[in-house]
Amino acid sequence: MLRPYNVFNHMKIGVLALQGAFAEHIVMLSKLGVETAEVRLPAQLDDLDGLIIPGGESTTMGKLMVDFDLLEPIREFGLNHAIWGTCAGAILLSKDAHREQPLLSLMNITVQRNAFGRQKDSFEAALDVSRLYQDGDTREAFHAFFIRAPIIDSVSGNAKALISLPDGRIVAAEDGHLLATSFHPELTGDTRFHEYFLSLV
Ligand code: GLN
Repeated sequence: MLRPYNVFNHMKIGVLALQGAFAEHIVMLSKLGVETAEVRLPAQLDDLDGLIIPGGESTTMGKLMVDFDLLEPIREFGLNHAIWGTCAGAILLSKDAHREQPLLSLMNITVQRNAFGRQKDSFEAALDVSRLYQDGDTREAFHAFFIRAPIIDSVSGNAKALISLPDGRIVAAEDGHLLATSFHPELTGDTRFHEYFLSLV
């Protein structure tokens, strides 16, 4: 459930900074008064309360995670810490992306990469985010950017769909303290998904 800002200022959140849109996440977290760290080395996970894996290119980011010896340490971190993957980050959190590539396999979700087509097919959508709140009230829509975005094509185990498009396709899911979004909340200036993630920390 969304909480007041002042509960966030004792947290330290890392953003995986190997590739992609990590700087934008740091700006959003800073807006919320959260201490941040760019993560490129396993030891930089040690004092973190949570981690964001940004959008970018999941194959490239996965290979870099292997090269930087980060895949196993992040997997272990995710067993008892909150991790949020946006777009390519959601792909990396999934159990299966229907092709060979390094994955963290932490969340009980599978994804279909580039499910909406190529770069030119990127689009914006107003999402119903009432489920981020516990009171059941309808809230202002969240303006979301989908950039060569994946679809979450199945959820299993304890994972559950959080946000769907009007046609039912799942674009956000959570599995305990793990969160995946197909879209890019760090590009909007709307901090509600960042606040929601911090509530999982
Ligand atoms: N299409 C990219 C991939 O498959 C993800 C795009 C993004 O993160 N905006 O990894």
